Amino acid sequence: MKVTLEHLTKRFPNRNKKIKEDVIAVNDFTFEIPDGKLIGLLGPSGCGKSTTLNMISGLEKPTSGKVFFGDDDVTGLPPENRGVGLVFQNYALYPHLTVRQNILFPLQNLKGKDKLSKEVMEEKALEAAKLVQIDAYMDRKPGELSGGQQQRVAIARALVKMPRVLLLDEPLSNLDARLRLQTREEIRRIQIETGITTIFVTHDQEEAMSISDMIVVMKDGIFQQMGKPQDVYDKPVNLFVAKFLGTPAINVFNGEIKDGKLYIGDDAILDVNLENQQVWAAIRPEGFVVSDNGALKCTLKQVEVMGRDTSVISLNDNLDGISVRSIIPSDTTINPVNGIVSFNIKPYKIHLFSKETEERLEF
Ligand code: ATP
Repeated sequence: MKVTLEHLTKRFPNRNKKIKEDVIAVNDFTFEIPDGKLIGLLGPSGCGKSTTLNMISGLEKPTSGKVFFGDDDVTGLPPENRGVGLVFQNYALYPHLTVRQNILFPLQNLKGKDKLSKEVMEEKALEAAKLVQIDAYMDRKPGELSGGQQQRVAIARALVKMPRVLLLDEPLSNLDARLRLQTREEIRRIQIETGITTIFVTHDQEEAMSISDMIVVMKDGIFQQMGKPQDVYDKPVNLFVAKFLGTPAINVFNGEIKDGKLYIGDDAILDVNLENQQVWAAIRPEGFVVSDNGALKCTLKQVEVMGRDTSVISLNDNLDGISVRSIIPSDTTINPVNGIVSFNIKPYKIHLFSKETEERLEF
């Protein structure tokens, strides 16, 4: 089921009564989520991810704009008539009901022509439980399950009616690191098996990038960029997106274009086809190549061996930040000269942004 947002906007009266202006939680979102894909809605805390999801589910009424499922305008429909499955961070299971009863719950509420026989309901509940591999625990209560297992029950409950769209709001936040990893792979498997269009909200860029077909990056209620995770990582449209994606974070330098060359301080880094101007020069950690004659000179501070890779931490006066973090293969020899380590920069790992607009500059 394709989901389309058309000029979707949500304003809230400010929680701080002294401030008259509304909070614009979601500002004029227009984009299309293709059928059968998993989309990660990504952005820092308070950027409007949950509000967007809630407007898609019907829990929140937009101030203006529309939501379409396929060709159906669902903007005025309550959540129960939209055919959405919802999963939240806190599982929201009924503690006094067993796993079976929790999963059955949405089916028992069906009325009129949609009403199902007891046998069919049991069959569907078991099918959903098997899909999330929780069928061995049907008679347990949520309190007798681990966090990861409880979240599987919540997913089974959301899937049992075979929703048109599955909406997940930070579903992994309450799980420990190992379970997060395992559960996110599970979510991906289930999504591929069912083919249900799924929207996944997270502030964790690695989580979103690892399982999403496409990510949507937001900031302060404003849409920034949508694309395949690798494409957004490789071609961020602005400095915010460049900084938001990637761990360690991208290194941002004060740069200058002079006569067709990019300079960081006195170091000429590469040839560029741009007018003379001040720029932000952002370099991914994996874009540094240690070389005795390297163009960029930094003061070596520390080398952290991480097994497969080595993290070189260095200082540069033109960095907009504390230290330069570069990731190099662990078999690289580093021979600082008077404490200076030199790097060449892989051209496709450097991104230039206007100092005025912070928008991407193609070079
Ligand atoms: P988080 O990752 O912290 O959950 P989020 O990206 O999901 O954040 P939202 O919860 O959608 O962000 O909130 C977006 C903005 O709208 C925030 O500034 C928030 O304070 C504000 N907001 C959300 N709900 C309300 C409300 N009911 N009344 C007033 N302001 C609200």
